[in-house]
Amino acid sequence: MSLKGRQQKAKHTRIKGKPGRVIGTVGRRVLVRDSQGERVCYLSGQRAVIGDLVRWEDAPGSGGKLLGVEKRQTVLRRRDLQGKERILAANLRGIVVVSSPRSPDFDSMLIDRYIVAANAAGLDVHICINKIDLGQMDCVTPYLREREALGYKVFSVSAKSAETLVEFERFLQTNSGQESGPLALVGLSGVGKTSLLAALLPGQDVGPIGELSSYWDQGQHTTTGSRLFELEGGGELVDSPGIRTFSPSGLEPGEVSTYFPGFSELQCQFRDCMHQKGQKGCVAEERLSENTLRGYRRLIEFLEKQSTPY
Ligand code: GDP
Repeated sequence: MSLKGRQQKAKHTRIKGKPGRVIGTVGRRVLVRDSQGERVCYLSGQRAVIGDLVRWEDAPGSGGKLLGVEKRQTVLRRRDLQGKERILAANLRGIVVVSSPRSPDFDSMLIDRYIVAANAAGLDVHICINKIDLGQMDCVTPYLREREALGYKVFSVSAKSAETLVEFERFLQTNSGQESGPLALVGLSGVGKTSLLAALLPGQDVGPIGELSSYWDQGQHTTTGSRLFELEGGGELVDSPGIRTFSPSGLEPGEVSTYFPGFSELQCQFRDCMHQKGQKGCVAEERLSENTLRGYRRLIEFLEKQSTPY
């Protein structure tokens, strides 16, 4: 259902208050937009995330008070280092996993974990390799070819070079937005997400989230916020807080092969096969790259232990 449809449907829910959409979050405050404008709302109960359709009411002297969150159509989740589930965003159309060939090092396993989380959440997923001005590393190209062969869209760009961004920008404009929901830029801290936003949104302040705008208190410093941005010419992007690792949440080890890139095409003769090392008759080692299998097995191992990240 389109976002407009969802908003219309939301009007008929039982939560009282005025309808709006969360376009910014910092700690326990959210920035809510409706046709009248934007205001900071304080959470009174249920936590809201970026992209949520909410109900709010005026709170004299302090913007607004959040009354409730409408049912989410999609939810992107991650498991934090303590094993707790965190919701990163709601009502997304998909994610763009941003990575770089170096600084920080290329990490195909991390991209695959994002793909798993997006596939499990029913989200589109695309890959963007930034900093191509630094040159490609040998291991990047084979991985990207593998994922492209599976149908994932891959962009190679540099936030520092406008001409490399033309196709990427056009794609974002036509594959996200009001009707379908935003795309979230996700990936490790330092891969260049903020730089990409700055290049795609000239004139807009996309800097460190805690210092983003005068909506938030002076002196507020936080790295846990998110913002939603509208692209000129259509399309919507969500920035996400910087992270050092990512693990999908809410998945059983036995479900991983359903969502891990390359496994649904595998046609292993055993139903319920876990594709573990040396498993007799399993075709995974013959048909998948070593890299893919290693990432898959590490994720299974992690989910089985559910303690330390890889
Ligand atoms: P974020 O943490 O993912 O938001 O990454 P930033 O946008 O803050 O960028 C981290 C660092 O990488 C900064 O020093 C940027 O100047 C640099 N950077 C970003 N994009 C590029 C790029 O395309 N090429 C090069 N060489 N450096 C980049």
